[in-house]
Amino acid sequence: MTAAKNFKVAFIGTGIMGAPIAGHIMDAGYDVTVYNRTKEKADALIARGATWADSPAVAAADADVVFTMVGYPSDVEDVYLSTDGLIRVAKKGAWLIDLTTSSPALARDIHDAAEVEDKHAFDCPVTGGEQGAIDGTLTLIVGAKEEDVAPVLPILESFSSKIFYFDAAGAGQTAKLCNQVSLAGCMVGMADALALAEQGGLDVSRMLEMVGSGMGGSRALTGLGPKALEGDYKPGFLVEHFRKDLGLAIEQSEDLDITLPGVETAFTLYDMLDQIGGGRLGTQALTLLYAEQADAVAAGLDWGKLDTSAFEPDDHDHECSCGHDHGHDHECTCGHDHDGDHECACGHGDGCHCEE
Ligand code: NAP
Repeated sequence: MTAAKNFKVAFIGTGIMGAPIAGHIMDAGYDVTVYNRTKEKADALIARGATWADSPAVAAADADVVFTMVGYPSDVEDVYLSTDGLIRVAKKGAWLIDLTTSSPALARDIHDAAEVEDKHAFDCPVTGGEQGAIDGTLTLIVGAKEEDVAPVLPILESFSSKIFYFDAAGAGQTAKLCNQVSLAGCMVGMADALALAEQGGLDVSRMLEMVGSGMGGSRALTGLGPKALEGDYKPGFLVEHFRKDLGLAIEQSEDLDITLPGVETAFTLYDMLDQIGGGRLGTQALTLLYAEQADAVAAGLDWGKLDTSAFEPDDHDHECSCGHDHGHDHECTCGHDHDGDHECACGHGDGCHCEE
C-alpha cells in the first residue's frame, strides 16, 4: 500500500524502544518531530534530521500521526488526557497511536475521548524487544480493526514485521499482557534452570544450549540466559517495566475474578528485585536474586532495602497462610478441627493447625 508520505509524524518518548522506532519512520521518508522528557535521548534523532519540540503539545500541534512510547500508564494518561494533552491539542482527524505497554481500561478511555474530539486513537503495544526495535522487526498488537488503521499501515510497517489485530480498543493491551504473562513463566524458568545447573555442577552454557534446543527452551532462555551467565545486566527491557506489566496483568485477573499463580510468583520476585535497587537493570537480572551476596552488591543491589514487613508475624504466635484468625470462631478452610488433635501437615509444629 502506498503511504501518505506527506503525513507529518510526531514521536513522544525516545527511550530504548522509541528512539529506534522513530528512526525507522524517518528512514521510510516521513518528517518526524520528537519530544522526550530527557532531551539528550532524542539527540541522535535530531542529528539525523528530526525536529525537536519542547512539549508533547508542541510536537503534536502540526502532526497527522502522533506516536507515544512512554513508560507507565501514568505517563500515558498525562500525555493524552491532561489539559494540554493530545486529546485536546492534536489536529482534528489526527491518528494517536500508543505503543506503550499500558492499561487496557486507559486505552479504552483514550479511544473514547478521542472519538468525541474527531480523532483516531488506538492502542498498539509491541513485542520483540530492543533488538526488534533496532532491526525494525517488531510485532505490533493492535487494539483496532485492520480496515480502521489502513491509512497509517505504511508507517506501522516501517518498524514491524508482523501485525496482529485484536479489533477493539484496549484489546491490544490485553493481548500484550498475555505475552507478558507467558514471558513471566519463561523468565522464572530461565533463572531457576541456571541456579539448578550452577549448584548442580553442570557446564551451564551446555545446559542452556541443550534446553534451548527442546521443549524447555524459550527466547528468554536462549537470548537472556547467556547474558545473565556473563553478568551482563544492561537493560534491553527494564525490570521496573516488567514489574509494571505483571502488576497490570494481576489487576486484570482480579477484575476477571481469576488467579494467575505463575504471574503472582514472578511479580513477587521482580518486585523484590525492584525494591533492592534493580529496577533499572535488564530483566535477566532476576538471576541476581539467586546469586551470592557479593555478586548482588557488585551489580548495585542492596538487600537492606527490602521491605520485610510483609514477612513478619503479627500478634499471633504463628501466622497461618490462610490469613484468618485461628483464635476466634473462624472455620479454617482446611476442614480440620483446630481445637482437636489434628496435626496439620504444614510442619509449623505444636499448636499450629493451619491449612494443609
Ligand atoms: P524507556 O527507555 O524508559 O523509554 C521511555 C521513554 O519515555 C523515556 O525516555 C522517558 O523519558 C520517556 N517519557 C516518559 N514519560 C514521558 C512523558 N510524559 N513525556 C515524554 N517522555 C516521557 O523504556 P522502553 O524500554 O523504551 O519502554 C517503553 C515502553 O515500552 C514501556 O511501557 C515498556 O514496558 C514497553 N516495552 C519495552 C520493551 C523493551 O524490550 N524495552 C519491549 C516492549 C515494550 P526519560 O528519558 O526522561 O525517562
